[in-house]
Amino acid sequence: DGVTGASPRTARVLSIAGTDPTGGAGVQADLKSIAANGGYGMAVVTALVAQNTHGVRSVHVPPVSFLREQLHAVSDDVDIDAVKIGMLADVHVTRTVSGWLGQVKPGLVVLDPVMIATSGDRLLTEDAEEALRDLLSVVHLVTPNIPELAILDGSPVATSWSAVLRQAQHVAETYGVLVLAKGGHLAGDLVPDALVGAHTLREFPGLRIDTPNTHGTGCSFSSAVATRVAARAGIAGPSLADWGDAVAEAKLWLTESIAHSGDLQVG
Ligand code: PLP
Repeated sequence: DGVTGASPRTARVLSIAGTDPTGGAGVQADLKSIAANGGYGMAVVTALVAQNTHGVRSVHVPPVSFLREQLHAVSDDVDIDAVKIGMLADVHVTRTVSGWLGQVKPGLVVLDPVMIATSGDRLLTEDAEEALRDLLSVVHLVTPNIPELAILDGSPVATSWSAVLRQAQHVAETYGVLVLAKGGHLAGDLVPDALVGAHTLREFPGLRIDTPNTHGTGCSFSSAVATRVAARAGIAGPSLADWGDAVAEAKLWLTESIAHSGDLQVG
């Protein structure tokens, strides 16, 4: 049923992200997604965000020395199977996380390149986009939506699925990462996603669900993939098939979650 897919062990998954006090996006969503997908969730907060499903009211970024303390407090104690990175707020936060990744070298790193919320509010300062691109070379999977993919690729926003796939392949080749390109921002009833490598492609078809309740779906999806792939990975790390199967399972789970989101009455 997508939620109880076979997991050989409980993956220890660390979310490094911003907050959403309504629980729909950010760290709060990540922790719920990790748990719902069978993992053990941990969280380091990059930024405190006063927001709800309508928009962002203000952002508070604690000093990076405190961020570093949080990161090392986790990695000094717990073996981390996978890291999911979300909102990085600014260039200082981005470089601090990058430095920690270089020291700790977690086996699996999934980056959701959070830049601008659906409401139009910035969650990453513009001058941090270069530092975010630098981070790509040390992550295993990046999960951009269409506007984020365009910024990563330095291209105009794609308006067709074939253009999305071309940009994703270019990013994969340039940075040596896998790209999970997400088609949700395309016009129309089809919402395809694709796992794209420099020389590989696996597509995941989907149908649009008519609902306004999509706040935080990107956060939830990337956490679900990180959790599912960590559960599948052997000692040598995940194979391409493991990544693909993890995405398929996570997409099935997320689609069900979106389909039932209206029942919750949470903004
Ligand atoms: N708030 C935080 C802290 C996030 O990390 C994200 C992630 O994309 C969002 C909000 C996104 O909100 P929305 O799904 O409404 O674009």
